[in-house]
Amino acid sequence: MPQHWIRRFAQGYRSFRQNYFEKNRQLFQQLRDGQTPKVMLVSCCDSRVEPSLILDAGPGDLFIARNIANLIPPYEPDMHHHGTSAALEFAVKNLGVSHIVVMGHAECGGIAAALAGELAGESQFIGTWVSMISPIRNAVLKEAGDRPVAEQQRLLEQRSIVQSLRNLDSFPFVVERVQAGSLFIHGWWFDIHSGDLLAYDSASDAFGPLPF
Ligand SMILES: [Zn+2]
Repeated sequence: MPQHWIRRFAQGYRSFRQNYFEKNRQLFQQLRDGQTPKVMLVSCCDSRVEPSLILDAGPGDLFIARNIANLIPPYEPDMHHHGTSAALEFAVKNLGVSHIVVMGHAECGGIAAALAGELAGESQFIGTWVSMISPIRNAVLKEAGDRPVAEQQRLLEQRSIVQSLRNLDSFPFVVERVQAGSLFIHGWWFDIHSGDLLAYDSASDAFGPLPF
């Protein structure tokens, strides 16, 4: 059995315990009393996109939900098992976060598979999950089907972030707070090649440098 990967991370834990944990004992003491993150982040499961590292965040800073292709599903109170919606509900209603950031990324495998239409019938769960972006995938193919695949991919990665922001607007507890001015939503896209982080600007309907 290839144990070396697990050994590597067991060693990693020991190093964390001896170094980071010891140096930040006070922080961990405070966190024992509860968490008060102001920002919820929805990002991809992709191992190359490490939100806390990219945003220089520590324990207690970010409430993170990771899923395939960083998608926010539509509001569907139907008794099914909605992990991302549950995380959203907890972040907004219980923690009272002030910001929700949907962070997509370049070279997203979930988006690539959705674009190629590979998943229909080949997976138990993934196909159904990413099928929520089928309408925008079809729109991208219609609009940019003759452009290089890399360009279509980037377009779908960014448009799916915008779709997730729209889906956020279908959750009554989100809309209520956005309208009251106590909750702000953001769409960001991380480029693995260049290290750039772009933000969606609704006025220009485009992604550009972070405005802050
Ligand atoms: Zn991804």
